[in-house]
Amino acid sequence: MKKLIAGNWKMNLHKEDAVQLASSITQKLSEADGITDKCDILICPPTIHISSVLDICENTAVNVGGQDCSIHNEGAYTGQTSPAMLKDYGCTYTILGHSERREYQNETDSDVNKKAESAHKNGLIAIICVGESEAERNADAQEQIVERQLTHSIPTGANAENTIIAYEPVWAIGTGKTASPADVEAMHAHIRNILKQTLKDGSDVRILYGGSMKPENAADLLSTPNVDGGLIGGASLKADQFIEIAEKA
Ligand code: PEP
Repeated sequence: MKKLIAGNWKMNLHKEDAVQLASSITQKLSEADGITDKCDILICPPTIHISSVLDICENTAVNVGGQDCSIHNEGAYTGQTSPAMLKDYGCTYTILGHSERREYQNETDSDVNKKAESAHKNGLIAIICVGESEAERNADAQEQIVERQLTHSIPTGANAENTIIAYEPVWAIGTGKTASPADVEAMHAHIRNILKQTLKDGSDVRILYGGSMKPENAADLLSTPNVDGGLIGGASLKADQFIEIAEKA
């Protein structure tokens, strides 16, 4: 399966820096031989920078995506961005249900399910994020939590073409702590089993790992069974590090 290396820029970078980062990524990718034969590359800038970043990434191998989308296509929903608008600009993917949105915007599995359905209807690939908190892992409830998130967040009509799962243990996001390859292997196997039971082509759905992935740990994480790529936060803000991770893939 072709891996996906996805960068989540979160709410970082002013316009000039965003344009500069996108330019460095496209430049470095064009110099690094063969990376894009082996993996797909995606960057997800803040919504306000999507248009400028898309201008840089046009006719390159770099895909651009949103970090969220509305359930609705248009209307009186102040502050939201519709999946139709993302698609119209040229985005191909959107992240959904990131733990920061689940925590700060109180997004539920049901919200994520509706957003993913709306993303699919508009031709976007939904990257659905799941993952347990530190307390849930300490209580050994991680498999149960992730199973609940998956079964409730994945909409009817999901398949390997329109859906990607990102396993992101909340305690590993932005903390420098990474799940051990053994824990990642166990969780990704669990996710794979659920996907196989739930979807006809569940064996082909890409499962990304996210949580403090960086060049130093990327090779181990990306060679773990059922790890089909990475969702990268901090290290995606440095072109060198992001491309180095893609090289490891
Ligand atoms: C993320 O925000 O999805 C993420 C994985 O962040 P970081 O790589 O910084 O832990």
